[in-house]
Amino acid sequence: MSLNILRNVKLADYTSWMIGGEAEYFCLPTTVPELQEALRYAKANQLPITVFGGGSNILISDHGIKGLTICLRRFSEITTEVKEDKIYINCLAGTAKSELLKAFLKNQLAPALFMAGLPGDVGGGVVMNAGVAEAFEPREFMELVDAIEVMTLEGEVKRLEKSKLTIRYRHTDGWQPHIVIRALISWPLVKDPTILQQVRDANKLRLSKQPLDMPSCGSVFKNPDGHKAAQLIDQCGLKGFRIGDAQVSLKHANFIVNLNQATAADTLAVIEHVKKKVYEDKGVSLTTEVVKLGQFNL
Ligand SMILES: Cc1cc2nc3c(=O)[nH]c(=O)nc-3n(C[C@H](O)[C@H](O)[C@H](O)COP(=O)(O)OP(=O)(O)OC[C@H]3O[C@@H](n4cnc5c(N)ncnc54)[C@H](O)[C@@H]3O)c2cc1C
Repeated sequence: MSLNILRNVKLADYTSWMIGGEAEYFCLPTTVPELQEALRYAKANQLPITVFGGGSNILISDHGIKGLTICLRRFSEITTEVKEDKIYINCLAGTAKSELLKAFLKNQLAPALFMAGLPGDVGGGVVMNAGVAEAFEPREFMELVDAIEVMTLEGEVKRLEKSKLTIRYRHTDGWQPHIVIRALISWPLVKDPTILQQVRDANKLRLSKQPLDMPSCGSVFKNPDGHKAAQLIDQCGLKGFRIGDAQVSLKHANFIVNLNQATAADTLAVIEHVKKKVYEDKGVSLTTEVVKLGQFNL
């Protein structure tokens, strides 16, 4: 077998929060046949499957993940074609968004600005419909996507047109229960020579507003209708609130940072406290954007 299936792998090393227990079984497929091999292995050994990509929007349980965890961050390949008045980008799900940024920058196209500072991979961008608060165009990942390819749990590859997907704020449905393996992206070839400078300015602004020097998952809560989660949390005096090593960032109230040895339990306790306080003081229910993976209800 060419794919290496590992045992008891520490998943904190694969997440931007640097939190989480071990994967019982773990692999990092790099190609479609390797991913098919992983699925065959799981089926043969009756293992449940968990998939993630860049690990920048997940909270993994301290008790880890049972079954086979498939990390797609090495499942990466990108091709670009400029045809008539459009750019077409075809990329595997584990391609880093920074690779998309480079392709758009090279062609001086507006999505470079959207992509600047968005961590994680293309698959995570599709599933989470990653987006920005600024009035950029595009401002949501799925605005770029024409179609996706998925792999069924039997290893069959299928194309799904965008019209078959349900696209919402920070979430895409309609691809489940499969694995997203490829995104087919296009954008009009309208060049903007100032785009590089705009990307530099946006990066500077993010650096000044977000605690990018500390492990986090970005914004923990979705913005409720008509509100900004960060503003509500700040107004409740929660900046700096801490349990164990999980702390509401002093710089950006919608970030929870890992000060050193934060556990998933610490982080969840901070999340619950923030939700409770914001509901009591402001009457607004916060819901999380971050996705929990693994065994939480033991
Ligand atoms: C510093 C920082 C800033 C951030 N800023 C933003 C921001 O401005 N806007 C924003 O929207 N997000 C932001 N995020 C959150 C995160 O980067 C995005 O949601 C990103 O798109 C997640 O991609 P990922 O590859 O890391 O996904 P992961 O965290 O690996 O996975 C996220 C979810 O998608 C599922 N998944 C991933 N890949 C696949 C696949 N191929 N098939 C099926 N399921 C899959 C996982 O199971 C999980 O449920 C930020 C995060 C950080 C750390």
